[in-house]
Amino acid sequence: TAKAAGGGRYRFFAREMMDRAVARLHNETALRRAIDQEQFVLYYQPKLETLTRKLSGVEALLRWQKPDRLVMPGDFIPLAEETGLIVPIGAWVLRTACEQGARWLAAGHAVPVSVNVSARQLQEAGLVDLVADCLAKSYLPPELLNIEITETSMMRDLDHSEALLARLRDLGVGISVDDFGTGYSSLAYLRRLPVTALKLDRSFVNDIPAETAIATAVLDLSRSFGLKTVAEGVETEEQWHWLAQQGCAEVQGFLFARPMPVDLLERDFLTA
Ligand code: C2E
Ligand code: MG
Ligand code: MG
Ligand code: MG
Repeated sequence: TAKAAGGGRYRFFAREMMDRAVARLHNETALRRAIDQEQFVLYYQPKLETLTRKLSGVEALLRWQKPDRLVMPGDFIPLAEETGLIVPIGAWVLRTACEQGARWLAAGHAVPVSVNVSARQLQEAGLVDLVADCLAKSYLPPELLNIEITETSMMRDLDHSEALLARLRDLGVGISVDDFGTGYSSLAYLRRLPVTALKLDRSFVNDIPAETAIATAVLDLSRSFGLKTVAEGVETEEQWHWLAQQGCAEVQGFLFARPMPVDLLERDFLTA
């Protein structure tokens, strides 16, 4: 019976693996279809000047608009990265964000637009050409485009990142280190990378004001490298005031505004 039980357990695991593979294939197929049918939409979350609360830019955040519901990036970007589908999806994001930024500019609003680029996209040989092409075709001035790359994905291959970021900077776009402070990196690498801003990770903003050691350290570091600091995930007045006092340049978070569709952003933030 021991053997039978073992066999049963084996069959159970095999079955489970099979189910998982089928589910994955199903999801991957759905994601491919979403690309073909352009079921994606960009939401935009305002970033504000800390002291004045004036709009300083927006971050484009991807949503998958299924017929019946809106799917958040945490629920499909991991699969998109594993399957490589993030490459065509990311190209769509860049193109759409540049076109949107150019439309706002034409309407008299010079709003810098930030786009998230994942580790998988950094490995693609065509990334710099893609960015250049999106800028050229949309006529968006490069100063109005900002690329956000997480600390962890920048660190994966430092030599490669250094060369790649230099080429992106040569185009004139800004580069932010996203989720800064969550990686295991030493500080020495930062000197080598031609970035323009650090985004203090939400987890450290969340600790303010009870625990401020890391937030203070990041702000000091950013200042000493001549970089702009953006705090993400600001949810309370207390956090905002502390960040203002410490000289953090920009804030982004639910306290000020959630990510929103274009029409709402225009209505609430871009009316003269
Ligand atoms: P991220 O780049 O760090 O974006 C910030 C995330 O924090 C967004 O979640 C935003 O909605 C959320 N957030 C902003 N303020 C607050 C706040 O005050 N409180 C809380 N609790 N959350 C806040 P979202 O839109 O779900 O995106 C999650 C992540 O998915 C992003 O993190 C980014 O890593 C990734 N992502 C989103 N869009 C894209 C994209 O177009 N391409 C790629 N490669 N990744 C993307
Ligand atoms: Mg981001
Ligand atoms: Mg972030
Ligand atoms: Mg984050």
